Amino acid sequence: MDLSVSSDLASIPGSSLDVERIRADFPILGQEVNGHPLVYLDNAATTQKPQAVLDAIQDYYRTGNANVHRGIHELSRRATDAFEGARGRVARFLGTQDPSEVVWTRGTTEGINLVASTWGDAHVGRGDEILLSEMEHHSNIVPWQLLAARTGARLRYIPVTDEGTLALEALDDLLSERTRLVAIGHVSNALGTIHPVAEIAERAHEAGALLLVDGAQGAAHHPVDVGVLGADFYAFSGHKLCGPTGIGALWGRRELLEAMPPYQGGGEMISVVERDSSSWADLPHKFEAGTPNIAGAIGLAAALDYLEGVGTDAVLVHEQSLVAYALDRMEEIPGIRLFGPRDPEKRAGVVSFLMGDAHAHDISTILDTEGVAIRAGHHCAQLLMRRYGVAATARASFYLYNTREEVDRLLAGLETVRKIFA
Ligand code: PLP
Repeated sequence: MDLSVSSDLASIPGSSLDVERIRADFPILGQEVNGHPLVYLDNAATTQKPQAVLDAIQDYYRTGNANVHRGIHELSRRATDAFEGARGRVARFLGTQDPSEVVWTRGTTEGINLVASTWGDAHVGRGDEILLSEMEHHSNIVPWQLLAARTGARLRYIPVTDEGTLALEALDDLLSERTRLVAIGHVSNALGTIHPVAEIAERAHEAGALLLVDGAQGAAHHPVDVGVLGADFYAFSGHKLCGPTGIGALWGRRELLEAMPPYQGGGEMISVVERDSSSWADLPHKFEAGTPNIAGAIGLAAALDYLEGVGTDAVLVHEQSLVAYALDRMEEIPGIRLFGPRDPEKRAGVVSFLMGDAHAHDISTILDTEGVAIRAGHHCAQLLMRRYGVAATARASFYLYNTREEVDRLLAGLETVRKIFA
Protein backbone atom coordinates (compact mmCIF):
# COMPACT_ATOMS: atom_id res chain seq x y z
CA MET A 1 0.00 0.00 0.00
CA ASP A 2 1.33 3.41 -0.95
CA LEU A 3 1.30 5.54 2.19
CA SER A 4 3.08 8.52 0.70
CA VAL A 5 1.40 11.90 0.78
CA SER A 6 -0.19 13.16 -2.42
CA SER A 7 1.70 16.06 -3.96
CA ASP A 8 -1.14 18.59 -3.59
CA LEU A 9 -0.91 18.03 0.15
CA ALA A 10 2.83 18.39 0.17
CA SER A 11 2.66 22.10 -0.52
CA ILE A 12 0.95 23.78 2.38
CA PRO A 13 0.03 27.48 2.23
CA GLY A 14 2.66 29.41 4.14
CA SER A 15 4.99 26.41 4.20
CA SER A 16 7.98 26.07 1.93
CA LEU A 17 8.74 22.49 2.96
CA ASP A 18 8.64 19.66 0.48
CA VAL A 19 6.80 17.41 2.93
CA GLU A 20 6.51 14.49 0.55
CA ARG A 21 10.29 14.32 0.23
CA ILE A 22 10.76 14.81 3.95
CA ARG A 23 8.38 11.97 4.79
CA ALA A 24 10.38 9.63 2.62
CA ASP A 25 13.33 10.26 4.98
CA PHE A 26 11.41 8.85 7.99
CA PRO A 27 10.98 5.08 7.64
CA ILE A 28 8.66 4.77 10.66
CA LEU A 29 5.98 6.95 9.07
CA GLY A 30 5.25 4.48 6.29
CA GLN A 31 3.48 1.93 8.52
CA GLU A 32 -0.08 1.11 9.46
CA VAL A 33 -1.31 1.26 13.04
CA ASN A 34 -4.61 -0.41 13.99
CA GLY A 35 -5.33 -0.97 10.31
CA HIS A 36 -4.79 2.67 9.28
CA PRO A 37 -1.81 4.60 7.94
CA LEU A 38 -0.05 6.01 10.98
CA VAL A 39 -0.70 9.68 11.73
CA TYR A 40 1.92 10.63 14.29
CA LEU A 41 0.88 13.78 16.16
CA ASP A 42 2.77 13.27 19.42
CA ASN A 43 5.89 15.19 18.46
CA ALA A 44 6.01 17.32 21.59
CA ALA A 45 6.61 14.06 23.48
CA THR A 46 9.26 12.81 21.07
CA THR A 47 9.95 13.13 17.36
CA GLN A 48 10.66 10.48 14.75
CA LYS A 49 14.16 9.95 13.36
CA PRO A 50 15.21 10.37 9.74
CA GLN A 51 17.30 7.72 8.01
CA ALA A 52 20.35 10.02 8.19
CA VAL A 53 20.27 9.82 12.00
CA LEU A 54 19.72 6.06 12.03
CA ASP A 55 22.64 5.68 9.59
CA ALA A 56 24.96 7.90 11.62
CA ILE A 57 24.37 5.82 14.76
CA GLN A 58 24.73 2.53 12.93
CA ASP A 59 27.88 3.66 11.08
CA TYR A 60 29.47 4.66 14.36
CA TYR A 61 28.83 1.23 15.90
CA ARG A 62 29.78 -0.63 12.73
CA THR A 63 32.97 1.21 11.91
CA GLY A 64 34.08 3.58 14.67
CA ASN A 65 33.07 2.30 18.10
CA ALA A 66 35.65 2.96 20.83
CA ASN A 67 35.76 4.88 24.07
CA VAL A 68 36.60 8.56 23.75
CA HIS A 69 39.53 10.60 25.10
CA ARG A 70 41.19 7.45 26.48
CA GLY A 71 42.78 5.28 23.87
CA ILE A 72 45.96 5.99 21.93
CA HIS A 73 44.71 4.05 18.95
CA GLU A 74 43.05 4.86 15.67
CA LEU A 75 39.47 3.88 16.57
CA SER A 76 39.57 5.87 19.78
CA ARG A 77 40.91 8.86 17.88
CA ARG A 78 38.11 8.53 15.35
CA ALA A 79 35.44 8.18 18.05
CA THR A 80 36.87 11.18 19.91
CA ASP A 81 36.92 13.30 16.75
CA ALA A 82 33.32 12.39 15.94
CA PHE A 83 32.19 12.99 19.53
CA GLU A 84 33.95 16.34 19.87
CA GLY A 85 32.88 17.28 16.34
CA ALA A 86 29.30 16.69 17.45
CA ARG A 87 29.86 19.07 20.36
CA GLY A 88 31.07 21.71 17.90
CA ARG A 89 27.94 21.05 15.83
CA VAL A 90 25.73 21.74 18.85
CA ALA A 91 27.68 24.91 19.60
CA ARG A 92 27.05 26.20 16.07
CA PHE A 93 23.37 25.24 16.35
CA LEU A 94 23.12 27.38 19.48
CA GLY A 95 24.90 30.31 17.84
CA THR A 96 28.04 30.12 19.96
CA GLN A 97 31.65 29.78 18.85
CA ASP A 98 32.91 27.97 21.93
CA PRO A 99 32.26 24.19 22.08
CA SER A 100 33.64 24.02 25.62
CA GLU A 101 30.51 25.87 26.76
CA VAL A 102 28.45 22.86 25.63
CA VAL A 103 28.02 20.09 28.21
CA TRP A 104 26.55 16.75 27.13
CA THR A 105 23.61 15.63 29.25
CA ARG A 106 20.93 12.95 29.05
CA GLY A 107 18.49 15.69 28.06
CA THR A 108 16.81 18.86 29.23
CA THR A 109 15.88 17.38 32.60
CA GLU A 110 19.47 16.55 33.43
CA GLY A 111 20.69 19.94 32.19
CA ILE A 112 18.31 21.78 34.53
CA ASN A 113 19.15 19.48 37.45
CA LEU A 114 22.84 20.09 36.80
CA VAL A 115 22.39 23.86 37.11
CA ALA A 116 20.08 23.57 40.13
CA SER A 117 22.56 21.31 41.92
CA THR A 118 25.86 22.97 41.10
CA TRP A 119 25.19 26.64 40.42
CA GLY A 120 22.21 26.53 42.77
CA ASP A 121 24.00 25.07 45.78
CA ALA A 122 26.85 27.52 45.30
CA HIS A 123 24.81 30.70 44.78
CA VAL A 124 21.35 30.34 46.29
CA GLY A 125 20.68 30.79 50.00
CA ARG A 126 17.90 31.33 52.50
CA GLY A 127 15.50 34.07 51.41
CA ASP A 128 16.75 34.11 47.82
CA GLU A 129 14.17 33.68 45.11
CA ILE A 130 13.93 31.63 41.92
CA LEU A 131 11.32 32.85 39.46
CA LEU A 132 9.48 30.28 37.33
CA SER A 133 6.15 30.39 35.52
CA GLU A 134 2.91 28.50 36.01
CA MET A 135 3.39 27.10 32.51
CA GLU A 136 6.62 25.21 33.23
CA HIS A 137 7.18 21.53 32.61
CA HIS A 138 7.82 19.63 35.86
CA SER A 139 11.46 19.34 34.75
CA ASN A 140 11.73 23.08 35.23
CA ILE A 141 9.92 23.11 38.59
CA VAL A 142 10.94 20.11 40.65
CA PRO A 143 14.76 20.65 40.49
CA TRP A 144 14.14 24.16 41.86
CA GLN A 145 11.83 22.82 44.57
CA LEU A 146 14.61 20.44 45.63
CA LEU A 147 17.07 23.35 45.65
CA ALA A 148 14.65 25.47 47.68
CA ALA A 149 14.23 22.64 50.19
CA ARG A 150 18.02 22.36 50.57
CA THR A 151 18.72 26.07 50.84
CA GLY A 152 15.62 27.79 52.23
CA ALA A 153 15.12 29.70 48.99
CA ARG A 154 11.62 30.63 47.80
CA LEU A 155 9.99 29.86 44.45
CA ARG A 156 7.78 32.44 42.77
CA TYR A 157 5.71 32.06 39.63
CA ILE A 158 4.83 34.28 36.68
CA PRO A 159 1.05 33.82 36.23
CA VAL A 160 -0.53 32.64 32.99
CA THR A 161 -3.24 34.65 31.20
CA ASP A 162 -6.58 33.20 30.09
CA GLU A 163 -5.22 33.37 26.54
CA GLY A 164 -2.27 31.11 27.40
CA THR A 165 0.58 33.60 27.50
CA LEU A 166 2.75 34.73 30.40
CA ALA A 167 1.42 37.73 32.36
CA LEU A 168 4.66 39.67 32.07
CA GLU A 169 3.21 42.76 33.76
CA ALA A 170 3.62 40.74 36.98
CA LEU A 171 7.41 40.94 36.57
CA ASP A 172 7.40 44.40 38.18
CA ASP A 173 6.31 42.78 41.44
CA LEU A 174 8.02 39.45 41.06
CA LEU A 175 11.56 40.56 40.22
CA SER A 176 13.63 42.03 43.02
CA GLU A 177 17.16 42.08 44.39
CA ARG A 178 16.30 38.72 46.00
CA THR A 179 15.78 37.04 42.59
CA ARG A 180 18.83 34.92 41.78
CA LEU A 181 17.55 33.16 38.69
CA VAL A 182 14.63 33.20 36.28
CA ALA A 183 14.01 29.74 34.78
CA ILE A 184 11.58 29.77 31.88
CA GLY A 185 10.57 27.58 28.96
CA HIS A 186 11.31 28.73 25.42
CA VAL A 187 8.08 27.17 24.13
CA SER A 188 5.31 25.57 26.22
CA ASN A 189 4.92 21.85 25.62
CA ALA A 190 1.32 21.98 26.85
CA LEU A 191 0.00 24.97 24.84
CA GLY A 192 2.70 25.63 22.27
CA THR A 193 3.04 29.27 23.37
CA ILE A 194 6.35 30.84 22.29
CA HIS A 195 7.63 32.97 25.15
CA PRO A 196 9.37 36.34 24.64
CA VAL A 197 12.62 35.04 26.10
CA ALA A 198 14.80 38.00 25.08
CA GLU A 199 12.44 40.41 26.85
CA ILE A 200 12.40 38.23 29.98
CA ALA A 201 16.22 38.00 29.86
CA GLU A 202 16.50 41.76 29.81
CA ARG A 203 14.17 42.12 32.77
CA ALA A 204 15.97 39.37 34.71
CA HIS A 205 19.36 40.94 34.08
CA GLU A 206 18.14 44.40 35.10
CA ALA A 207 17.17 42.83 38.43
CA GLY A 208 20.62 41.21 38.71
CA ALA A 209 19.30 37.68 38.11
CA LEU A 210 20.44 35.04 35.63
CA LEU A 211 18.21 33.43 33.01
CA LEU A 212 17.97 29.70 32.39
CA VAL A 213 15.96 28.65 29.34
CA ASP A 214 14.28 25.24 29.18
CA GLY A 215 14.72 24.75 25.44
CA ALA A 216 13.20 21.25 25.20
CA GLN A 217 10.45 22.54 22.91
CA GLY A 218 12.12 25.70 21.63
CA ALA A 219 15.17 24.16 19.99
CA ALA A 220 12.97 21.74 18.05
CA HIS A 221 10.99 24.38 16.17
CA HIS A 222 13.07 27.52 16.25
CA PRO A 223 16.50 28.62 15.21
CA VAL A 224 18.28 29.24 18.52
CA ASP A 225 20.88 31.90 19.23
CA VAL A 226 21.69 31.97 22.91
CA GLY A 227 23.34 35.39 22.54
CA VAL A 228 20.30 36.96 20.90
CA LEU A 229 18.04 35.35 23.51
CA GLY A 230 20.21 36.75 26.29
CA ALA A 231 20.27 33.37 28.04
CA ASP A 232 22.83 32.43 30.68
CA PHE A 233 21.95 28.71 30.47
CA TYR A 234 20.08 26.87 27.72
CA ALA A 235 19.12 23.19 28.05
CA PHE A 236 17.63 20.99 25.32
CA SER A 237 17.02 17.33 24.38
CA GLY A 238 18.08 15.53 21.20
CA HIS A 239 14.96 13.40 20.92
CA LYS A 240 12.67 16.42 20.51
CA LEU A 241 14.43 17.42 17.29
CA CYS A 242 14.85 14.20 15.31
CA GLY A 243 17.80 12.99 17.38
CA PRO A 244 18.10 9.96 19.67
CA THR A 245 16.82 9.67 23.23
CA GLY A 246 19.25 9.83 26.15
CA ILE A 247 21.30 12.72 24.78
CA GLY A 248 20.97 16.46 25.12
CA ALA A 249 23.09 19.45 25.91
CA LEU A 250 23.38 22.23 28.41
CA TRP A 251 24.94 25.45 27.19
CA GLY A 252 26.19 27.89 29.81
CA ARG A 253 28.23 31.08 29.75
CA ARG A 254 31.89 30.14 30.20
CA GLU A 255 32.49 32.21 33.34
CA LEU A 256 29.44 30.68 35.00
CA LEU A 257 30.42 27.12 34.12
CA GLU A 258 33.98 27.73 35.26
CA ALA A 259 32.85 28.93 38.66
CA MET A 260 30.48 26.00 39.19
CA PRO A 261 31.51 22.88 41.10
CA PRO A 262 31.23 19.51 39.28
CA TYR A 263 27.91 17.69 39.11
CA GLN A 264 28.97 14.05 39.44
CA GLY A 265 32.32 12.50 40.28
CA GLY A 266 34.06 9.81 38.26
CA GLY A 267 36.40 9.18 35.39
CA GLU A 268 37.11 11.88 32.79
CA MET A 269 36.04 14.81 34.97
CA ILE A 270 39.25 15.03 36.99
CA SER A 271 42.67 16.52 36.47
CA VAL A 272 44.52 14.91 39.44
CA VAL A 273 43.17 12.48 42.05
CA GLU A 274 44.79 12.36 45.50
CA ARG A 275 43.76 10.17 48.44
CA ASP A 276 41.51 12.80 50.01
CA SER A 277 40.78 15.24 47.23
CA SER A 278 40.86 15.80 43.49
CA SER A 279 41.12 18.66 41.06
CA TRP A 280 38.86 19.05 38.07
CA ALA A 281 39.31 18.78 34.33
CA ASP A 282 38.81 21.84 32.16
CA LEU A 283 35.44 22.69 30.65
CA PRO A 284 33.33 20.98 29.54
CA HIS A 285 34.76 17.68 30.83
CA LYS A 286 34.45 18.78 34.45
CA PHE A 287 30.72 18.11 34.08
CA GLU A 288 30.99 14.84 32.16
CA ALA A 289 31.83 12.01 34.56
CA GLY A 290 32.01 8.52 33.09
CA THR A 291 31.70 7.18 29.56
CA PRO A 292 29.37 9.50 27.67
CA ASN A 293 26.61 8.65 25.20
CA ILE A 294 28.95 8.76 22.20
CA ALA A 295 26.52 7.29 19.67
CA GLY A 296 23.82 9.63 20.96
CA ALA A 297 26.01 12.69 20.46
CA ILE A 298 26.84 11.59 16.91
CA GLY A 299 23.14 10.94 16.21
CA LEU A 300 22.22 14.34 17.60
CA ALA A 301 24.75 16.07 15.35
CA ALA A 302 23.29 14.18 12.36
CA ALA A 303 19.81 15.40 13.38
CA LEU A 304 21.03 19.00 13.49
CA ASP A 305 22.60 18.58 10.04
CA TYR A 306 19.30 17.20 8.79
CA LEU A 307 17.24 20.05 10.25
CA GLU A 308 19.66 22.63 8.96
CA GLY A 309 19.34 21.07 5.50
CA VAL A 310 15.57 21.51 5.72
CA GLY A 311 15.80 24.99 7.26
CA THR A 312 14.84 25.50 10.91
CA ASP A 313 12.91 28.67 10.10
CA ALA A 314 10.85 26.74 7.58
CA VAL A 315 9.97 24.12 10.20
CA LEU A 316 8.28 26.65 12.47
CA VAL A 317 6.37 28.26 9.58
CA HIS A 318 5.20 24.82 8.45
CA GLU A 319 3.97 23.95 11.95
CA GLN A 320 2.19 27.27 12.28
CA SER A 321 0.40 26.74 8.99
CA LEU A 322 -0.83 23.36 10.27
CA VAL A 323 -1.91 24.93 13.57
CA ALA A 324 -3.81 27.67 11.70
CA TYR A 325 -5.55 25.04 9.56
CA ALA A 326 -6.36 22.85 12.57
CA LEU A 327 -7.66 25.72 14.75
CA ASP A 328 -9.89 27.07 11.99
CA ARG A 329 -11.62 23.71 11.69
CA MET A 330 -11.58 22.64 15.31
CA GLU A 331 -13.31 25.86 16.34
CA GLU A 332 -16.37 24.61 14.43
CA ILE A 333 -16.66 21.42 16.51
CA PRO A 334 -19.55 21.76 18.98
CA GLY A 335 -18.43 21.58 22.61
CA ILE A 336 -14.73 21.95 21.89
CA ARG A 337 -12.50 23.86 24.29
CA LEU A 338 -9.23 25.06 22.79
CA PHE A 339 -6.31 26.10 24.98
CA GLY A 340 -3.51 28.48 24.08
CA PRO A 341 -3.23 31.64 21.96
CA ARG A 342 -5.63 31.88 19.01
CA ASP A 343 -2.94 33.55 16.89
CA PRO A 344 -0.91 30.71 15.32
CA GLU A 345 2.15 32.96 15.13
CA LYS A 346 2.31 33.04 18.91
CA ARG A 347 2.77 29.30 19.08
CA ALA A 348 4.72 26.35 17.75
CA GLY A 349 2.98 23.23 16.46
CA VAL A 350 0.83 22.29 19.45
CA VAL A 351 -2.96 22.20 19.75
CA SER A 352 -4.36 21.40 23.21
CA PHE A 353 -8.07 20.81 23.56
CA LEU A 354 -11.00 19.10 25.29
CA MET A 355 -14.36 18.04 23.84
CA GLY A 356 -17.62 18.13 25.76
CA ASP A 357 -17.80 15.37 28.36
CA ALA A 358 -15.11 13.23 26.76
CA HIS A 359 -12.07 12.68 28.93
CA ALA A 360 -8.78 13.46 27.22
CA HIS A 361 -7.82 9.77 27.56
CA ASP A 362 -11.04 8.72 25.78
CA ILE A 363 -10.27 11.12 22.93
CA SER A 364 -6.77 9.71 22.58
CA THR A 365 -7.99 6.09 22.77
CA ILE A 366 -10.61 6.62 20.08
CA LEU A 367 -8.13 8.39 17.81
CA ASP A 368 -5.66 5.54 18.34
CA THR A 369 -8.18 3.06 16.94
CA GLU A 370 -8.06 5.17 13.75
CA GLY A 371 -4.25 5.20 13.66
CA VAL A 372 -3.91 8.76 14.99
CA ALA A 373 -1.38 9.15 17.80
CA ILE A 374 -1.87 12.14 20.11
CA ARG A 375 -1.06 12.70 23.80
CA ALA A 376 -3.58 12.94 26.64
CA GLY A 377 -2.80 13.91 30.21
CA HIS A 378 -1.35 16.75 32.22
CA HIS A 379 1.72 16.94 29.96
CA CYS A 380 3.98 17.25 33.03
CA ALA A 381 2.39 20.67 33.57
CA GLN A 382 0.08 20.17 36.52
CA LEU A 383 0.30 23.82 37.62
CA LEU A 384 -0.98 24.86 34.21
CA MET A 385 -3.80 22.30 34.28
CA ARG A 386 -4.82 23.66 37.69
CA ARG A 387 -4.72 27.21 36.29
CA TYR A 388 -7.37 26.18 33.76
CA GLY A 389 -9.32 24.00 36.20
CA VAL A 390 -8.82 20.77 34.23
CA ALA A 391 -7.07 17.51 35.06
CA ALA A 392 -5.84 16.85 31.55
CA THR A 393 -6.06 17.93 27.94
CA ALA A 394 -5.74 16.17 24.61
CA ARG A 395 -2.75 17.43 22.66
CA ALA A 396 -1.92 17.10 18.98
CA SER A 397 1.59 18.25 18.17
CA PHE A 398 2.92 18.71 14.65
CA TYR A 399 6.37 18.54 13.13
CA LEU A 400 8.03 19.00 9.79
CA TYR A 401 6.70 15.72 8.33
CA ASN A 402 3.03 16.29 9.16
CA THR A 403 0.51 17.22 6.49
CA ARG A 404 -2.88 18.83 6.18
CA GLU A 405 -4.24 15.44 5.17
CA GLU A 406 -3.13 14.20 8.58
CA VAL A 407 -4.90 17.11 10.27
CA ASP A 408 -7.99 16.01 8.33
CA ARG A 409 -7.54 12.50 9.74
CA LEU A 410 -7.37 14.04 13.23
CA LEU A 411 -10.58 15.97 12.53
CA ALA A 412 -12.30 12.83 11.23
CA GLY A 413 -11.30 11.05 14.44
CA LEU A 414 -12.72 13.91 16.50
CA GLU A 415 -16.00 13.53 14.61
CA THR A 416 -16.06 9.89 15.80
CA VAL A 417 -15.45 11.12 19.36
CA ARG A 418 -18.27 13.63 19.01
CA LYS A 419 -20.71 10.97 17.80
CA ILE A 420 -19.78 8.55 20.60
CA PHE A 421 -20.19 11.20 23.29
CA ALA A 422 -23.23 12.92 21.73
N1 PLP B 1 10.75 20.84 29.31
C1 PLP B 1 9.79 20.78 28.39
C2 PLP B 1 9.09 22.04 27.99
C3 PLP B 1 9.46 19.57 27.81
O1 PLP B 1 8.50 19.51 26.89
C4 PLP B 1 10.15 18.40 28.21
C5 PLP B 1 9.77 17.08 27.67
O2 PLP B 1 8.64 16.85 27.35
C6 PLP B 1 11.17 18.53 29.16
C7 PLP B 1 11.44 19.76 29.69
C8 PLP B 1 11.96 17.35 29.60
O3 PLP B 1 12.70 16.84 28.54
P1 PLP B 1 13.47 15.46 28.68
O4 PLP B 1 12.43 14.48 29.18
O5 PLP B 1 13.93 15.14 27.30
O6 PLP B 1 14.56 15.66 29.64
